[in-house]
Amino acid sequence: MPLYDFICDQCQQVFEVRATIQEKADGLEPECPVCHSKQVHQIISAGFMLRGGGNQTSAFSSCGPSLGSGCCG
Ligand SMILES: [Zn+2]
Repeated sequence: MPLYDFICDQCQQVFEVRATIQEKADGLEPECPVCHSKQVHQIISAGFMLRGGGNQTSAFSSCGPSLGSGCCG
């Protein structure tokens, strides 16, 4: 069963949804596991990291504590 990555528009939480092709075709309406918002959208590509943003202080924690900009190189 494929996994789909979604990001919450409300709190920028990234989460995975497991669904069958059929469920996907029928239209997924996943909700954010954090704030339970349904204002989410799917992340299509694997390289979803936003680049070149000014004050992107969202929940990407792969580069350690957010000490401001530039920590991701
Ligand atoms: Zn959320």
